[in-house]
Amino acid sequence: MPVTLVTVSLTELSRDELTRTLDELRGAYDELRGRALALDLTRGKPSAEQLDLAEELLGLPGAGTHTAADGTDTRNYGGLRGLAELREIFGPLLDVPAGQLVAFGNSSLELMHECMVHAALFGVPGSTRPWAPGSGAAVLCPVPGYDRHFALCEKLGIEMIPVPMNGEGPDLAEVERLAAEDARVKGIWCVPKYSNPTGTVYSAQTVRGLAAMRTAAPDFRIFWDNAYAVHHLTETRHEVADVLAAADEAGNPDRPFVFGSTSKITLAGSGVAFFGASKSNVDWLTGHLGKRTIGPDKVNQLRHALFLGSADGVHAHMDRHRALLRPKFDLVQRKLEEGLSGTGAATWTVPEGGYFVSLDVLDGCASRVVALAAEAGIALTPAGAPFPYGKDPNDRVIRLAPSYPPPAELSDAVDGLVLCIKLAGVEHLLR
Ligand code: PLP
Repeated sequence: MPVTLVTVSLTELSRDELTRTLDELRGAYDELRGRALALDLTRGKPSAEQLDLAEELLGLPGAGTHTAADGTDTRNYGGLRGLAELREIFGPLLDVPAGQLVAFGNSSLELMHECMVHAALFGVPGSTRPWAPGSGAAVLCPVPGYDRHFALCEKLGIEMIPVPMNGEGPDLAEVERLAAEDARVKGIWCVPKYSNPTGTVYSAQTVRGLAAMRTAAPDFRIFWDNAYAVHHLTETRHEVADVLAAADEAGNPDRPFVFGSTSKITLAGSGVAFFGASKSNVDWLTGHLGKRTIGPDKVNQLRHALFLGSADGVHAHMDRHRALLRPKFDLVQRKLEEGLSGTGAATWTVPEGGYFVSLDVLDGCASRVVALAAEAGIALTPAGAPFPYGKDPNDRVIRLAPSYPPPAELSDAVDGLVLCIKLAGVEHLLR
């Protein structure tokens, strides 16, 4: 695909030069539109090749294999906390003692939803009243962040207060100030490793600060969504400080709710999700879960334990994902650099894990870029999606998800995106 290579800084061009560049870019854009592409960069989901890595699961545990290590017949009811052998595998990966880890259904988002709904209906341990709609309950939302966290709060009428992310996690001073001064602030969403969408790895200082800070609310919770705990894109397996231990040491053992899942390890639709927390929190959640089910799908948990084997087995499996994902992320970086570096039209993250690249275009241009791309047959996540209520105050951030499309499609999609970013940028500068 021909991409007009504007490599000079757009902001340094004269008005005449910008006008000429605009004509050139419009010509290239018309050509792009003429190709009637149908490409998609919205989906943060594993490709078919990644799912194939876990195909063996479909034959497990196999007829005749249904007994767990402790003698539990996995085919039967019960075992609300999940199979011990699977909790033993994931305990160290999520930094939760296996005895405080629950292995539940197929989705960690479901467990976050459970926690929020029960907090809204009944409160959490330590609450003086439920976080009900109309109670004024609010949560801190590091931005840009994960849209589904925000959609959940919006549905429940829990107010969202954005807090900017920096290279070490959420702006700690701002979080400390907001949590200390307002008892309505009940919690914070955190994706501590390879954050969605910025790829940030929280520093130890941030983790300790969040665990130890003074909160006006006695029932403050950190929603520690460790969705990308083992999802490395480089050979460095980045570590994040142990939030449960830090909270325990600081005298706030009930503060963290830890979440994780195998959605992007085994099968995104048929994995196993985890919840880890203090004993009183685990009793609280399982008390509520026990009213809606007699137990989780332990056959699925058994086949996961058999397939993955150990924490090392999980790491080895994630190396196979990395071999498939890394070339796609490298391709995106190469295309963005070739097309945009030096233009001043965008900056972007270089994640070392996770599923996303976060792109900042010129202020006021993100919606225009998304609209131009859509018209050219390239679907992008809606501008604003990584912000509470879908509103990016600067109209600047675009989330890219390179995992799903085949490399050739990804390549065409990023070429087209680069062109749309330049076109929107020049239009903006001429306004
Ligand atoms: N949390 C984050 C940060 C995610 O990015 C995603 C999926 O993209 C999820 C949770 C969903 O997890 P699950 O499949 O376990 O519900």
